[in-house]
Parts: sequence; C-alpha cells; structure tokens
Amino acid sequence: MSVTLREWQKEYLKTAIEHLRKDKTLLLQSPTGSGKTLFALNTALSVGGTIIYLTRTHNEFNSVKREADRLGLKIAFIFGKASVCPFAQGNEDPEEIDCKSCKLNGKVKDMGNLSPSQIIAEAKKASDYCPYQSLKAKIGNANIIASSYLYFFLPNLRRSMLKEIEDKNIVVIIDEAHNLLFSDEWFKRRIGKKTLKNALEELEIVRKESRISGDKAKEYLTILYDFMTKLDEGSGCKQLPLFPQPSKEALDQLVKAMKTYVNLIKGPIKRSSLRSIVNFFSEEGDVYNCNGSLVIIPNKTWDKINSALNVANYRILMSGTLPELGINGYRINVNVKMGKAEWYYCNNLTSKAKMRSSEAPKYAEVLERIYKLSGSNVLVFFPNYEFKNLVKENVKTVPVLEENKRGVTHEEILELMRNGKYLVLLVMRAKESEGVEFRFENKNLFDSMVLAGLPYPDITDSIVTNRIKRVAKLTKRSEEEVAHELTLITIKQTIGRAFRDPNDYVKIYLCDSRYKEYFSDLGLNEKEIKLFV
Ligand code: SF4
Repeated sequence: MSVTLREWQKEYLKTAIEHLRKDKTLLLQSPTGSGKTLFALNTALSVGGTIIYLTRTHNEFNSVKREADRLGLKIAFIFGKASVCPFAQGNEDPEEIDCKSCKLNGKVKDMGNLSPSQIIAEAKKASDYCPYQSLKAKIGNANIIASSYLYFFLPNLRRSMLKEIEDKNIVVIIDEAHNLLFSDEWFKRRIGKKTLKNALEELEIVRKESRISGDKAKEYLTILYDFMTKLDEGSGCKQLPLFPQPSKEALDQLVKAMKTYVNLIKGPIKRSSLRSIVNFFSEEGDVYNCNGSLVIIPNKTWDKINSALNVANYRILMSGTLPELGINGYRINVNVKMGKAEWYYCNNLTSKAKMRSSEAPKYAEVLERIYKLSGSNVLVFFPNYEFKNLVKENVKTVPVLEENKRGVTHEEILELMRNGKYLVLLVMRAKESEGVEFRFENKNLFDSMVLAGLPYPDITDSIVTNRIKRVAKLTKRSEEEVAHELTLITIKQTIGRAFRDPNDYVKIYLCDSRYKEYFSDLGLNEKEIKLFV
C-alpha cells in the first residue's frame, strides 16, 4: 500500500535508514502527533526482520495498528495474561496464572483482525479457547509485535516472547522512550500489612493440611507485621536502612509453604501472599517505607534495561521529549509545529506541597472561571491524585468528569465528552496523560487545557531523589538539571495531548507561579503569554 509521507518524514528518512544500519541505534525526537510511528516503522522496515514496538500502556496499541494497516503489515499484540485470561481479575502477576491447570491450555483460535480494545472485550468472554495463547500464536508470522514495555524489559516475559521469533532479525522501537528514566518503577515489588496477614492465614492452612511446621516462617511474619504496624503511614516513600530480615531457615520454610499452598489451590489462578513475600526477599536492592508498605527497588535496574536493548539487532528510541539517557546512537531532532496555542499564566497560584490545602479552593475558583469562558470541555491536568482530589472537593458549580486510579475507561470519558461539556480532571503521567487522544473525527473534544500545578519531582520521596541521583550519575549532569528536565518532560508531554494536527487551536493555562522558570524551555516569550490571575 502506498502511503504519503509528510515533508519532514521525506527529508529525514534516508538519513535515519543509513544511521540505523550503521549505528544500530537511532534516537528520534519529534513532537507528539507529527507522525513518529509511521516514520519509525518505515525506517525499521529497511533493515528487515521482526519489529517489536513497545508502548507504555495498551491504549497506545491503537495508533500502531492504524499505521501497520496503512502499510499493509501483519501485526500481533502481546497482552499480559492478566489482561486477556478469562479467569483473571486483571491485577494478577503472570506467575499467578498457571496455564498447566487450565482446561483451555493449548486451545488456540484465530481472533481475527480485532482492535486492541475489542481483543480485551472478546478475551474476557472466551470459553472454548485461550485468548492469551491465541494472540501469542500470531507472533511468529507477524511483521510487527506490539507489546507494553514490561513484556520486553522483564527477563522472563521477554524470553517467552522471543522464543516465538528465534533466529529473526529484531528491531525494537521504544515509543515515548523518555519513560526509561522512570524504569526503576517497573521492577519494584511491594508488600503491605494485608499481604502479611494473608500470608499468615495461608501458612495456617498449609500447617493444617500438611506436615510442614513453618514455625520459623510464622515467627518471622509476626515480627515483620509488628514492625510494619509501627511504620509512618504518611505520604511518599522513605528509605529504610533497617528492617527485620528473614533467617535462611525462615525463608526456606516460606518457600516450602508457598509451594504447598499454591498446589492446594484449585483452578489456574494461584494467588498467594506467601509468594509475594518470597519474591520480595528474592530481590536485592533498596527498601523503602511507602505509606506503611515495604517497597524494594532492585539494584542495577539500568543494567537490566541495557541487556534487554542488547537483545535487539537494531533499536529506535523515540519521544516528543527525548532526554539524555546515556545510550549511544545517532540522534535526529525534528522541529515541526503542530497546531497553535493561546497561552495564559496564573501567577497567583502555586501547587507547592506545603500550600496545597490552602490553594485548593483558589484553584477550584479559577477552574470554574475557565470552564465558563470555554465553548467546549476543559482538560485539567494535576501533578498528582491527592491534589486533584483536594481541588475537586472545592469545585461546586460546574460538571466534573474525573480519572480514577481504577474504573473509568478512556472510551467512557470520550463518550461523555462528546455529548456534554465538562471539567475533565486528569493526572499528569497517569494513564490518561500520555499516548492517548481526546479527539473525535480528528478534532479535539476540548478547547482549553489547564496545567493545574507544576509537576516538579517530589523531593521528599526517597525513591524520586534516588532516581534523580541515578540519572544524574548516568548522564553526568547535576541533580538540579535532571529534576528540571524531568519536570519539563512532564509539562511537554501533557501539553502534547492538545496538538495532533496542524489545525489544532487550544488555550493553554499554566497555573502555578513557578511556570515562569519554564517559559524559555517551552519556546515562549513573556509578550505572548496573557496573565490570567
Ligand atoms: S491457558 Fe487458561 S489460565 Fe492460561 S491464560 Fe489461557 S485461559 Fe488463562
């Protein structure tokens, strides 16, 4: 199928192909909506083999499918077992779904040319075939495999995917590759007090049903539970230099008890809190108290990223805001203007952590004013869920739609936006902030966007500060520079939701006095910004 390329795509394609062949790694920075996906696929096709296209969430699979269809390429989707196994709730770890004890194991059927959201809907209804295995069966013949980051960067999952394409040339495309800066999050493990309580109950069941005594395991879990009840449950994560560690004997008993407990469970879903505890202590790394739970960030997560990248013969890392990642490759920066913004600045507001409670009513008032001035929906992005909730409590006079951590789907939000006018309350870097579109028939479903607060990294959180230190070391920059860059990436990615087409026109409200420090990074001079409050 012939596809018309945009001017910038024609201009850079030859260079990109040459350098992908020569340097093996291409670093592409081009604005959101400028056509990176099509460009990267065309570049990748030139070196042959199978393309593995990685996205942050399943939401982004749609645009990959659209471009694959335009290019006449066969695409396969990899979904986690929890997303497409009809017996799963959706939040299981892959190892908690045991296909060997499933009546659908090995029953594969062609699910047809469904869209990613149709696949998920169909999969949940499956009763005579396994959707997970049916999707995987398509990998071998596909030109493109679309998968989320985790499937490629977690070694076990990657191995299961690559088994299907052994001996093939692999080109990996990492969409929105700035997310690699946050990759420590992908490897973390968490246990809370509830996990411990459940583990103690599971241990009792095992003790009753088998001859395993588990006395050391019980003693240890009780000590750990007591320790955790004394932890500060305040916000954020604090590094824990000391916490009770299991003795070798206790850990051996936990492993044995976990295996016995899992064998006692009937059916393919084998959830076990004992397993969560065993997995937690099988990692080495920094341990944190995050709101009363224990979180471990394993050591050397960046080495794991590098070994995954090295599995591919060629790599294309791309983003609208591609930072310095310490990865060598040929870099292309594309400067094309996508749409037009009318800029407003709220100098009288701040979302600084200490001021949030007192500022929330002021933010609510400003949002209600913006809503009344707008002819359509207003997208409002907050730096975090807590601040969103605080402000929402104060919004009284206009209809509100909001993103929850769980529950509302993107399609449901779009449907409501198409048929009404809302303040749509969203969170930066959450699931509705990157790689998703708020459009219908190629037009925005909003005319105004508010950045309600500055997404400056939370430096009271030790996971965040350790991440900044790690990136600063990796890229040989100061921690201040890295923190500034992380903030800027989030700002630009959020604003990127507004512009997908050269004809887009959106009012952007930068609502925090600290945005002034980012005007020049955003290419703005003060004359073109109107003071709103
Ligand atoms: S084989 Fe069964 S348990 Fe495994 S993914 Fe398929 S349906 Fe789920």
